[in-house]
Amino acid sequence: MTTAALIVAAGRGTRAGGSVPKQYAMLAGAPVFVQCLQTFGSLQQALGGNEKIDLMQVVIHPDDTEIYTRYAGTGVLPPVYGGASRQLSVLSGLEALADHRITKVLIHDAARPFVSPRTIRNVIRALDKHAGALAAVPLADTLKRANAFGCVAETIPRAGLWRAQTPQGFRFDDILTAHRKAAAAGRDDFTDDAAIAEWAGLDVALVEDEATNTKITTEADLKMAERLKNANLYPYPLEPRIGTGFDVHRFTAGDHLILGGIQILHTHGLEGHSDADVVLHALTDAVLGALGDGDIGQHFPPSNPKWKGAASRIFLEDAVTRVIKRGGRIANADVTLLCEAPQIGPHREAMQRMIADIMGINPVRVGVKATTTEGLGFTGRREGIAAMASVMLLLP
Ligand code: MG
Repeated sequence: MTTAALIVAAGRGTRAGGSVPKQYAMLAGAPVFVQCLQTFGSLQQALGGNEKIDLMQVVIHPDDTEIYTRYAGTGVLPPVYGGASRQLSVLSGLEALADHRITKVLIHDAARPFVSPRTIRNVIRALDKHAGALAAVPLADTLKRANAFGCVAETIPRAGLWRAQTPQGFRFDDILTAHRKAAAAGRDDFTDDAAIAEWAGLDVALVEDEATNTKITTEADLKMAERLKNANLYPYPLEPRIGTGFDVHRFTAGDHLILGGIQILHTHGLEGHSDADVVLHALTDAVLGALGDGDIGQHFPPSNPKWKGAASRIFLEDAVTRVIKRGGRIANADVTLLCEAPQIGPHREAMQRMIADIMGINPVRVGVKATTTEGLGFTGRREGIAAMASVMLLLP
């Protein structure tokens, strides 16, 4: 008995805002599709029973190869490219799984990050009795059909009506055959896989799902999802980890500094191999410290000419990617700058927003503060700037 999860992430929908399709948007510190992989992945080591996931296959669009590879982590088969429609994307995923001797397959939209382990297990279990089984929610709202004038033409009885969600599970050979048949018949108008199964005459059971397993389509969906995630609806327990970072750079000739990713005009520049951004360097070390994963100099040695003049956001982005690949999240980040000048106040909000953007978290989770050292020490003598940072992670 081998069960595979087929995650469909090839859609191009960017209505949720940003430049990336919604399944790659950041949600509470990790891309939406990663959260699906983590929930299905949590059933890879499931104890006992047949309700576990053995293999995970993701279907992506070629344009998303880079962002996918950056965050996907381990435990997933190499991605395959989708087709012109969702239906063709699923078919290419099924064909890729065809050599793996799969018994059951669960097809899931990558834009549904709230799928619960309970629903996944229930769908797998339903496939012992049925050729297909889909997660669905009984309709709670009253349905109206509109006429051409935007007025109610009729009320549709909702008894027996369900809203189809995913995952939708099938016995593998049956759904592969049905999909191939639909493609051969030139049918490309099915809106979900259960509809193809019905068309092929398979029996498909309804498995009651949680209403929270919604699909993220718009910016408003993403905001609502952010609130739900922040309410701590994680599918597994997370452990808090604290890390600290400290960095110093010396003033040198110049007319601007980069602090927290923001350019600030000043009487001096900062000396450094990269762009000398003490704020992002301290934050990077804080993240790496919380992970117990070395420090910035180990991952980006100053001896490597590749990092000469580099924008420091790449260091922090790399550290954040390590957190996501470990299944973790950043809870918050806090920075203190030590310097007599420049004044940080006027740039605080821009820095907060920039740091939040780089770390993929909400700006309310980022603190930026500054203090002088009362003219004492090297910062007091205006020889350089120091920054210290603390970061809290939540790790599985
Ligand atoms: Mg540094």
